[in-house]
Amino acid sequence: RAKAGGRNGYCFFAAEMTVEARTRMTLELSLRHALAREEFVLHYQPRIDLGTMAIVGMEALIRWNHPELGQVSPMQFIPIAEETGLIEAIGQWVLLEACMQTRRLMDWSGRPLCISVNLSARQLKCRDIVDQVRDALDRSGLPAPLLELELTESALIEDIEHSARLLKELKGLGIRLAVDDFGTGYSGLAYLRRFPLDVLKLDRSFVLQQDENDHNFDFIKAFVDMAHALKLSVVAEGVETSDTLQFLRNADCDEAQGYFLAKPLSLSDFEAYLSRLPRIA
Ligand code: C2E
Ligand code: MG
Ligand code: MG
Ligand code: MG
Repeated sequence: RAKAGGRNGYCFFAAEMTVEARTRMTLELSLRHALAREEFVLHYQPRIDLGTMAIVGMEALIRWNHPELGQVSPMQFIPIAEETGLIEAIGQWVLLEACMQTRRLMDWSGRPLCISVNLSARQLKCRDIVDQVRDALDRSGLPAPLLELELTESALIEDIEHSARLLKELKGLGIRLAVDDFGTGYSGLAYLRRFPLDVLKLDRSFVLQQDENDHNFDFIKAFVDMAHALKLSVVAEGVETSDTLQFLRNADCDEAQGYFLAKPLSLSDFEAYLSRLPRIA
């Protein structure tokens, strides 16, 4: 690509790289202080039961309010946090903050809420991850079955033996374990039987692929049935239309998240969302 445009093309390419490299350096430098400067907040995306259409919980999604750049996407800074090792401290903060805020939201709303927290590959290798999770539960008083950890397939299969041992230990705390972004590659269901999992989260791209072709309904239905036979519950991510929602309900999918149902919300917007829902008995 650099050569295609001749000399000018090459210059353009080089300039682009410099901007990218500079942005990356700025992010990396400011990421080191972001925790101490309290620039992170958690947003919460509601997760809906497709049988009852009631909220069952939410996923914690980190947001970084950079003093100069504004809001930086986790897609941009989580990889940097991983490479630099900063993810260990940031991840620990996310765990505790998510458990504390969920406990408060439950007390305030009188509803049980299941909180999902994303763990990245590097956090799985962190020696005291089990202690971090136990500590977050102890300090927040959140019942263990209401905490779910989301791990990606790629992180799990990096070191299968280690993952299997670690997940068993985490499971021993009484929490729930989910595979995130399922369908974006790798293993398939058989592979995942080696881990004590509770939930499969179908990636948006996987769901959309099925949605576009009517004849694929049988495929996703069979997939959901197979997951159920393995005692896994199935959550669809990224539901943006009522058609997709209907499709998933017909396929017996258990739960869903997506802009059509609710966007990720700030804590105060999430509270407002909860207070607008019909009261529970
Ligand atoms: P993820 O865990 O798969 O989270 C789902 C992403 O899809 C979120 O992006 C969410 O805002 C977005 N989303 C939700 N509904 C829809 C929809 O209907 N349509 C579309 N197009 N997108 C939807 P977000 O918040 O930008 O997070 C991106 C990724 O960053 C997450 O993917 C997760 O891998 C990572 N991440 C976010 N928060 C954390 C965290 O606290 N710790 C770690 N380690 N990773 C995190
Ligand atoms: Mg997730
Ligand atoms: Mg996901
Ligand atoms: Mg995803």
